[in-house]
Amino acid sequence: MGKAVFLNVPTNGHVNPSLPLVSELVKRGEQVIYYLTESYRSKIEATGAEFRPYPGMAERFFENADLDGSSPPRTARYLMQESARLLPLLLEQIKPLKPDYLIYDVMCPWGNLLGQVLNLPRIASSALLFVNPASMIKTVGIGRIASMLAKGTPHIIAYQRLSREVAKTYNVTPMPFAQALINPADLVIAYTSREFQPNAQAFGSHVRYVGPAIAPRPDASGFPFEKLNGHPLIFVSLGTVINNNPEFFRACLNAFASWQVQLVMAVGSSIKPEALGALPENAIVRPFVPQLEILTRSSIFITHGGMNSVHEGLYYGVPLIVVPQQLEQLTVAARVRDLGAGVTFSSNTPSADDLRSAATRLFQDISFKNNAQKISESFKAAGGQARAASEILTFVSEWKSS
Ligand code: UDP
Repeated sequence: MGKAVFLNVPTNGHVNPSLPLVSELVKRGEQVIYYLTESYRSKIEATGAEFRPYPGMAERFFENADLDGSSPPRTARYLMQESARLLPLLLEQIKPLKPDYLIYDVMCPWGNLLGQVLNLPRIASSALLFVNPASMIKTVGIGRIASMLAKGTPHIIAYQRLSREVAKTYNVTPMPFAQALINPADLVIAYTSREFQPNAQAFGSHVRYVGPAIAPRPDASGFPFEKLNGHPLIFVSLGTVINNNPEFFRACLNAFASWQVQLVMAVGSSIKPEALGALPENAIVRPFVPQLEILTRSSIFITHGGMNSVHEGLYYGVPLIVVPQQLEQLTVAARVRDLGAGVTFSSNTPSADDLRSAATRLFQDISFKNNAQKISESFKAAGGQARAASEILTFVSEWKSS
């Protein structure tokens, strides 16, 4: 039996895909100690892992720092500041545990640094699409990137200073700023398929594309499934982080009020359902819904293009309308469009008319559904959490015997 320490960031998009993997490792006899903030305790404990709260980490880790994904340099600086704060505290707690390996989300530089300091096998858990500069320029646009870097220069300078200080203190090599956002590791578990990741071979053979890790979640209760009447279901969600866009949700309500469909909308915790005005009869609006259960019944998914939402939708063969709300989602949206599994918008708040036209295209042109189905097959063939666990255990045993 091996002992793993798992380090993550407190946001559903990064935690959800890790849970089936952790359950699988525990099922195979591994001891997993999982660091996160208190609100995730029950989710973590349900996997059989041991939960430990991060010392002093804010529950609304990204939100409190007002990080909305629009400034990668500012995010990198924040992550390095948090690493400098956490490292001595985590070293004190984790070193005596004598773990055999570390697994960390790609957005945890403190995991990467800890692995280097303790000389442990480093395994990254990645719910992101990898991008190279050329494809970034193609999807985001050179103008937007230049302006983001110009505005971000003070953060990059502060990041570099801090990264050098941390490196000196712990006798490791300073990390360039892009690495703080997508940390390298000895083995990377990527929750997508080779077919979905553009240019997959370019990112190295240590990246294992295992597809989305999907397992039943204990969040299905409380949704009024009895109200679903068999009409085609259009599911709308902007995820759990940057979702405070009432105008977008109102446009969705207006778009489909007179259609013979049912609209299920997960509007997040910042918007009060009353703020959306009188709801049409065919709409069910909740702050949070059991997304996997809803997707199994959906004909169309209108999504912000979060990695998990897109993967979950396509896993169930649901064609997508992608309405990106921030930078990273543009890359995911472009991939959905290029693979013909949906349509995408450049505005984060399309009009009701535009949404209706997009849905009409998806209903009328069967190729969208067929392409979503093809991607679904690639996801299922990628092996999921069972393959991820096998890859990790093989890698760790090879590391030990080398
Ligand atoms: N989610 C859910 N119910 C909701 C909204 C979101 O279960 O009402 C889950 C969804 O299934 C996904 C995660 O929250 O696993 C959102 O991750 P994603 O990467 O799509 O977006 P983020 O919230 O990180 O922007």
